Amino acid sequence: MERNTIYLSVICIALSMILISVPVMAEGGGGGGGGAGGGRNTDASSILAELSSIKFILGGIAALSGLILLKTIKINRNIRTLLMFAVFVLFGVLVIMHQPSPLRAVVDPVTALATGSAITLKKTAMAVFIGGLSVIGAKLFCGWVCPFGALQEIVNRIPAPSGKKIKLPFKISNSIRISIFAISLVMIISIGSDLYTYHSILNPFELFEWHFEAVLAVLVGTVLIASVFVYRPFCYLVCPVGLLTWLLEHVSIFRVRLDKGKCDDCKKCILKSPCPSVKAIMDGDTLRPDCHACGICIDACPKDALRFGIWKKAKA
Ligand code: SF4
Ligand code: SF4
Repeated sequence: MERNTIYLSVICIALSMILISVPVMAEGGGGGGGGAGGGRNTDASSILAELSSIKFILGGIAALSGLILLKTIKINRNIRTLLMFAVFVLFGVLVIMHQPSPLRAVVDPVTALATGSAITLKKTAMAVFIGGLSVIGAKLFCGWVCPFGALQEIVNRIPAPSGKKIKLPFKISNSIRISIFAISLVMIISIGSDLYTYHSILNPFELFEWHFEAVLAVLVGTVLIASVFVYRPFCYLVCPVGLLTWLLEHVSIFRVRLDKGKCDDCKKCILKSPCPSVKAIMDGDTLRPDCHACGICIDACPKDALRFGIWKKAKA
């Protein structure tokens, strides 16, 4: 168990380093050409300048507000839905958080590593933004900034016709997510394209261009119907940002923590939470399903045994 924790931490730190440094390294070997998102001057000062643009400042404020709310109030499902509606309007409708798509910003450093290609400054900044927030607090980007994550959560409030929501077994959902990423990696190396390409089959962020094509309508429609039954199906089953931020969760400074001394094992948190993560938190598992930092389990606990705090390994 101890050894697993060390291995996992090493893998996560290595991945964070790759995420942050590969765009810069790739830029060094990259060729010309503009590309969507413009600018290729990806030295540290250019990245910092890009990160001070209004989009990232607002995104940072949203994520840090989420962190403060999680630490100071109890967030029930109605409050959470209202907050997600605000995130959807702010970052999906008013401020454009999709261009460059967060999804491409995470896949392109890997593409750059595999093919020696360069990526743009805007994508580098987006990758640093997602990675940085995710290291500060578990899923602060996915749970508090991503408009497509917010949309799935809002739709998940619609009662399922059967009256029961489905919690996907994490081993299966994560295997599917990893397989899609692995297939994309093989495709990048062999044919130079992947499954998440803009205008391709698995990039719902194009929705926020507010123009509709058949492929996009089928993808978004399928995800939204699935969201009625399953909490954040795209995040758990497909999204490479979800995969990366899940890995980073294992080194996040702030995470949901259990105070075993206060817990009387009533399991209300597990019953009331939409995600598959709470049981793993209760069991003290090292490898936990994604926690989107919604705060519902914290609100559900009548003993205040759960809180969003600085991570410390629970004593056995
Ligand atoms: S996993 Fe993907 S779709 Fe889900 S919240 Fe994160 S970036 Fe958005
Ligand atoms: S463990 Fe689940 S219910 Fe608790 S904050 Fe994370 S996503 Fe929300």
